[in-house]
Amino acid sequence: MLKSIVLFFTVLFLFSIILPLKSIAFGDTVSGIGQYDKNNVFAKILRKEIPATVVFESEHVLAFEDIHPIKPIHILVIPKGSYRSILDFSEKASDIEITQLIKALGTIAKKMNIAKSGFSIMSNSGHDGGQTVPHLHFHLLGGEKVAWEQSLRHQKKETGN
Ligand code: 5GP
Repeated sequence: MLKSIVLFFTVLFLFSIILPLKSIAFGDTVSGIGQYDKNNVFAKILRKEIPATVVFESEHVLAFEDIHPIKPIHILVIPKGSYRSILDFSEKASDIEITQLIKALGTIAKKMNIAKSGFSIMSNSGHDGGQTVPHLHFHLLGGEKVAWEQSLRHQKKETGN
């Protein structure tokens, strides 16, 4: 009996280590729909539980540098509200939240000095989109040519970032 209990907790312990490591190493995708997970990494950044290099903030929007940039400029632009992806944001967000988010994308592009050279805005949703963080975010990419026809995940594999 004691042996089974010890075995059970050993397996549980190993899984609690292996699963997060697998997720970090392979960038597991998440669903773009479903209940909002308050413990996702961007929710923690919004609560200031983990640090981020913030480049822009307004009442409803936060923008910060991606931790693994794939272009010289790689900013993540997120709503402060709890939206899992563009699906529930487009359904449930207020007009002011939507307006501020869209306006912020232009403001940040100008602030990062990529308005003239050009940039790409991308938002991944769900498994096929390659979304890994279940809080709506827009990737603002620039500073060099962005091959928009490649998926973000594919670029990451190629560059090793
Ligand atoms: P997705 O794969 O969901 O489209 O994009 C998630 C992005 O979040 C990735 O580009 C990844 O590098 C970035 N990311 C993941 N964790 C963190 C973090 O803790 N801090 C920051 N700044 N970016 C993160």
